[in-house]
Amino acid sequence: MKVLVIEDEPRMSQLLRRGLTEEGHTVDTCDSAARATESVRYADYDVIILDWGLPDADGITLLRTWRAEGLSTPVLMLTARGSSGEKVLALRTGADDFLVKPFDFEELIARLEALHRRASAGATGATALGDLQFQRARRQLIGPSGAVELTSREFQLLSAFAERPGDIRTRSELLSKVWGAHYEGDANVVDVYVGYLRLKLETAGARRVSIATVRGSGYRLLVAPSPER
Ligand code: CA
Repeated sequence: MKVLVIEDEPRMSQLLRRGLTEEGHTVDTCDSAARATESVRYADYDVIILDWGLPDADGITLLRTWRAEGLSTPVLMLTARGSSGEKVLALRTGADDFLVKPFDFEELIARLEALHRRASAGATGATALGDLQFQRARRQLIGPSGAVELTSREFQLLSAFAERPGDIRTRSELLSKVWGAHYEGDANVVDVYVGYLRLKLETAGARRVSIATVRGSGYRLLVAPSPER
C-alpha cells in the first residue's frame, strides 16, 4: 500500500514510517495540514493516517474539506483523546476508522489493510445504471456511444443520484451531499452540474437514463426498464 502519514509529532511519525516500511508499504510523511493538502493533491494514496491535532489546523477540518472536494481515499484518524463524541464526529465527517493513541501497532496495520481491502473491493465494481455502466474506479460512464469521463463533482453528483434512483432529491440535499454541509456558495451550482451531467449522459448515448427536473423541488434520476423485459 502507498500510505500517507500526517502527524506532527516526530517520534510518532518516525514510528509509523518505520513500522509501515518494515511491513512492505511505501510511506510519505508530512507534519502540517498545509503540506498534507499538497501531498493529497499531487499523489494518489491507498490509505491516509491523519492525526487530529496538527499545528496549523485540526485534522477533522482538513478531512471535511477533502471530502467536500471529492477525495475518496480511506482515512484512519488518530487522536490522543478519544471520547465517543469525537469518534462519532470523525466518522460522520468522513473518516473510515479511528484509533486512540497509544495504540497497538499490529492493530493499526490490520485496520489499514481492512480499509484498503474494502476500498479496492468497492472501487472495482461497475454499477449498471439503465443502459449505462457506472465505472466508479475510473470515474467513467460507459454507454452505447462509448465511455465518458466524469469530473470529481459530476461523479459525486451521479453517485448521490444513483443511491436512490427515482426519488426526488432536493437542491439543498444534493448541495450538502456533494459540496459539503458548510458550502456557502451559490446553490445554483447544483443546476449547473446537473446540466453538465445531462450532457455526459447524452454523450454516453444513454437512452434509458435521464435526470428529470421536479419543479419547485429538485431533481430525480430516472432509469427506465429494459425494453426486452
Ligand atoms: Ca498531533
